[in-house]
Amino acid sequence: MTVDEVRSTPQRRAVLDVIAKAADHPTAAEVLDRVCEILPGVGAATVYRTLGMLVESGHIAELRLGTAAARYDREVGHHDHLICDNCGAVVDVHAELDRHAVIDPLETRHRFRATGYDLRIHGSCAACSKANTHRKDSANV
Ligand SMILES: [Zn+2]
Ligand SMILES: [Zn+2]
Repeated sequence: MTVDEVRSTPQRRAVLDVIAKAADHPTAAEVLDRVCEILPGVGAATVYRTLGMLVESGHIAELRLGTAAARYDREVGHHDHLICDNCGAVVDVHAELDRHAVIDPLETRHRFRATGYDLRIHGSCAACSKANTHRKDSANV
């Protein structure tokens, strides 16, 4: 599917625009909410089908994190993710993995030839860490 084909219907255009503006890796339900603000009354099935088509054609990427609902990513090139286990925030990053220290030994040990990697670093985002500190602070008072 070419960009012109994507842009050939207002529904597809709206879905693509919503994802292009989203830095937060929204779920399908979140994409639907945002598309509804642009095109009130748009059908959920249409939005979900469009997401599938856009993933298949490589215009957007699908991010599956365990059993949680799939998220959609405007960034289709190689990148890594910081994932907050508390609020579920997902941030795009480019982790500089030391091939020599990390991948080479694995290749040797498993006689595996690595062609790439996809890092997911779990933890607590800035907002959640801050909220936690505040809670601890007030507990001490
Ligand atoms: Zn968080
Ligand atoms: Zn991403």
